[in-house]
Amino acid sequence: MPNNPIILNGKLVSQSVREGLIERINVLKSKGIIPGLTVILVGEDPASQSYVRSKERQSAILGFKSEVIRLDASTTQQELLKKVEDLNQDDSIHGILVQLPLPKHIDDQLIIESINPAKDVDGFHPMSVGRLVLGLDGFVSCTPAGILEIMKYYQIPTEGKHVVIVGRSNIVGKPMANLLIQKRELGNATVTLVHTRTPDMSIHTKQADILIAAAGVPEFITADMVKEGAVVIDVGINRVDDPSSEKGYKLVGDVDFESVAPKSSAITPVPGGVGLMTVAMLLSNTVKSAENSIK
Ligand code: NAD
Repeated sequence: MPNNPIILNGKLVSQSVREGLIERINVLKSKGIIPGLTVILVGEDPASQSYVRSKERQSAILGFKSEVIRLDASTTQQELLKKVEDLNQDDSIHGILVQLPLPKHIDDQLIIESINPAKDVDGFHPMSVGRLVLGLDGFVSCTPAGILEIMKYYQIPTEGKHVVIVGRSNIVGKPMANLLIQKRELGNATVTLVHTRTPDMSIHTKQADILIAAAGVPEFITADMVKEGAVVIDVGINRVDDPSSEKGYKLVGDVDFESVAPKSSAITPVPGGVGLMTVAMLLSNTVKSAENSIK
């Protein structure tokens, strides 16, 4: 029997997150503080350019002091470190985000660790990751934080549920797993994390009450890999050729939506799902950082 799944609408949830920020931004403004976010983009990766445009647009809508520093792909590591250091010293900047991936001659991790942890609104600094793992307050990396917001908004329980996460990246899979095992609301789940070295991954995915796909492989989660009635969260944003579209490509997730949706009880679309949440949580982390700056 096909289900009529709930479509988990990232547009609605991200809007609700942004609305929740307005009052806090007004309080900050009344104290003379305007949340300041600076994004550094090195090079011309088309997907990164599009993400950065969206971050720029959204922070402007909320009245942030927002700036994008666009640097040539030939920028040296030393030059980039200097930029970050200048922003670390600038009290009007509460959030610094260096868009990844960086050109090959620059060490991503070195740059991440050069950001002042108090301004690490992406939540990638080892200090932020360590606090997350320990269950301490801090900046939670934006995509996993956004997925939790979707679960909260749609009242999807995680306690006692078996969550299977596909992908072990530092920005999605690992923090997601660590958040879901925390002893608190939106946690208390039993988590299995599968990856490229997992033999017969579908043995695990078929047992998931909640399946989170973050592998970056277009539409590879098919209906036969999903349990009837599962909640399916598709993190993937993959560009695939589409000669019929004006741009020559279309965006698809890691989940084969057409076959999986009828088997699921709830599912995120791509686009229109998790992607919108990531930017909303970045704004939220920036407001939090601005608030921290006057504590
Ligand atoms: P990544 O390449 O860093 O990590 C992918 C992970 O998936 C790796 O750990 C790898 O082991 C695993 N993997 C890859 N192929 C697999 C397979 N066939 N079977 C099992 N595991 C496999 O990617 P990432 O940065 O975590 O991003 C994953 C996807 O999510 C990408 O499509 C990316 O564009 C998207 N993404 C979306 C958002 C958003 O805002 N929605 C944010 C970040 C990433």
